[in-house]
Amino acid sequence: MPSEFDLIRRHFTRPAHHTTLSVGDDAALLAPRAGMQLAVSTDMLVAGTHFFADADPEALGWKTLAVNVSDLAAMGAEPRWAVLALSLPAADEAWIAAFARGFFACADAFGVDLAGGDTTRGPLNLCVTIFGEVPAGAAVTRGGARTGDDLWITGTPGHAALGLAHLRGEVALGADAARTCLAALHRPQPRVAFGQALRGIASAMLDVSDGLLGDLGHILECSGCGALIDVAALPLAALHACGADDALARRCLLSGGDDYELLFAAPPAQRERLAALAHGHGLPLSRIGTITASAGELVLRETDGREHPTAHAGYDHFA
Ligand code: ADP
Ligand code: MG
Repeated sequence: MPSEFDLIRRHFTRPAHHTTLSVGDDAALLAPRAGMQLAVSTDMLVAGTHFFADADPEALGWKTLAVNVSDLAAMGAEPRWAVLALSLPAADEAWIAAFARGFFACADAFGVDLAGGDTTRGPLNLCVTIFGEVPAGAAVTRGGARTGDDLWITGTPGHAALGLAHLRGEVALGADAARTCLAALHRPQPRVAFGQALRGIASAMLDVSDGLLGDLGHILECSGCGALIDVAALPLAALHACGADDALARRCLLSGGDDYELLFAAPPAQRERLAALAHGHGLPLSRIGTITASAGELVLRETDGREHPTAHAGYDHFA
């Protein structure tokens, strides 16, 4: 039976690239560069709540870090360091090795050093705290949206929820569509470079983890404004192309979580710049609505022009 220290040494100790003191001491030492603020975020993944206990460990390793990287992307920050707290039911070395492979693949993809952590026995629970850097004062918060701003979403949100519906047997996707949707669910691609490019352009931003409408509600609350969503402008075509009917496509896009796309507001004067940026990053970008003055009110404009208020409740662990 490997000891806790064997596990840490074998699976979670890698050469660090920009960490003063990494895994192995009582604390890591991190040195942010001059003029930078630290952006810090924690996300916990709990078996049975966030993933199935028999989930593929390599994909789980990727996702555990990727959801944290995405939180920094949503601030316009650059991810730099992470610490990993693991609670594991057993010292299953094959499982841990696969998990570490996925985790470090994501760390390498986004320039993150694993600087420390904690490893204990217990119910399967994965918690990452991530540290990033952002030029002082340049972070994009949830609170800066202004009446008249456009609302934008990156990528093709809804694929992850469609993949989950497929796993649950609620829909039977074709092989290609299933591959696309399960990749979105298991290997989300945080929009790190694009998030940083939005500094000075976006007035408010977050990453969509709990559903577009629900997460939009957080921007409305923090910014003290409302929003109008234009259904005709939603990127539903990619979901239709995967075989989802209109009702399912709409539910996945508006209420499904787990895509980790960026939802942001920006003044209309930025439209051309945004189109050029999206093109440069090879990233689909949809202008899906506007910020309105009516605080807390979320209105959907249907394709026939009819407008109606809608709830902005996302996933809530305690509701
Ligand atoms: P302490 O008892 O002082 O908290 P630990 O024995 O928990 O130290 O950890 C020893 C070292 O290994 C520390 O540097 C800690 O940050 C690191 N560490 C523990 N678990 C992990 C892990 N899962 N990933 C990365 N580093 C870890
Ligand atoms: Mg410890």
